[in-house]
Amino acid sequence: MAKSLCTQKVFLFTRDYILRRKPYPFSVTLNVTTACNLHCSYCEIPSHALQEPSMEDLVRLVRSLGDRTIHFNLTGGEPLLRKDLGVLVDAIKNLPGPTYLTLFTNGKLLSKRKEVLERIDETFISFDGSREFHDRRRGAGSFDGAMEAMRTLAEMGKTYSATCVLGRGSEQELDFIFEHATKHGFKVGFIPVRVYSRSPEKLDELEPTPEEMHRMIARIKKFPLASNSPRGLDQLAKWPQQPTLDRPCMGGTTFFALEADGRLYRCCERRPEQKVPEPIDPDRALEWVERVPRDPCEGCWNIEGMEMTMMFSLVPSSLIKLVKNARVSHAMRKSH
Ligand code: SF4
Ligand code: SF4
Repeated sequence: MAKSLCTQKVFLFTRDYILRRKPYPFSVTLNVTTACNLHCSYCEIPSHALQEPSMEDLVRLVRSLGDRTIHFNLTGGEPLLRKDLGVLVDAIKNLPGPTYLTLFTNGKLLSKRKEVLERIDETFISFDGSREFHDRRRGAGSFDGAMEAMRTLAEMGKTYSATCVLGRGSEQELDFIFEHATKHGFKVGFIPVRVYSRSPEKLDELEPTPEEMHRMIARIKKFPLASNSPRGLDQLAKWPQQPTLDRPCMGGTTFFALEADGRLYRCCERRPEQKVPEPIDPDRALEWVERVPRDPCEGCWNIEGMEMTMMFSLVPSSLIKLVKNARVSHAMRKSH
């Protein structure tokens, strides 16, 4: 049964995306809230204070995408602030056919929400460096929260990774991050601070100098547990020049992002011109997928979008990295 449902998703992907060249919602990020229990120095998301989508709408939405979407990603704000998140997790994991479910969290509430985690396939925890550095950026107690989250996931036998935001001062934290990740066997994805902050005054204080960024990327390239692909890191090394793609971005073609206000965007960049203006009709999500603007895009700091594009474009080094990342996750599962 599971095999035939998997075959059905492969059939629909081949028919709609490859043969008919239609957009296909392979990977969908759901921003379930803009609220957060931390106030990280570089993040503007909580200030957006958008009205949360109702759980009923979210469940209807995932059901209307369910025979196509392979990967759902839950993020925010802090998604674990939603007391009803378990309802959405169950709705996604009860969809027909295989579905990979990921969750991005700062980790602080995680040990109190074990019931939600049981059915998450991979959790990504914010991890910027040592206690002193992490707490300075993200607030007192946030480092201990992240560490407790990792311990909880290990005890539950669950797979986790870390997300590290590269900014000014991160260079001195790399040794700590590499050692901690190596000791516990988890991957680390590195993203630039510009993903979270756009205000020029803030960025002046928060961003690394070009020399700092270049030195960091050179070291990250040698770190075997970095989940970024070599080409993704090359793009980051262009800093302060914005990364660009040598091919059309697949944002709005194979991956999409739903903002907490119910608008469907091309990608997690959530640019105003890259959304469907009306809130999504949760029962007709596929129509909204087809309406997402797909004008040529000059690039962005959303490294995740670039990695997805290279993966869907079958760039060999990205596929090799994908396999390596999967092997790290597998080794972690076996070690628990
Ligand atoms: S970076 Fe994440 S944890 Fe920090 S304030 Fe923003 S949403 Fe919250
Ligand atoms: S290049 Fe960036 S902003 Fe443009 S569609 Fe891709 S992920 Fe989105």
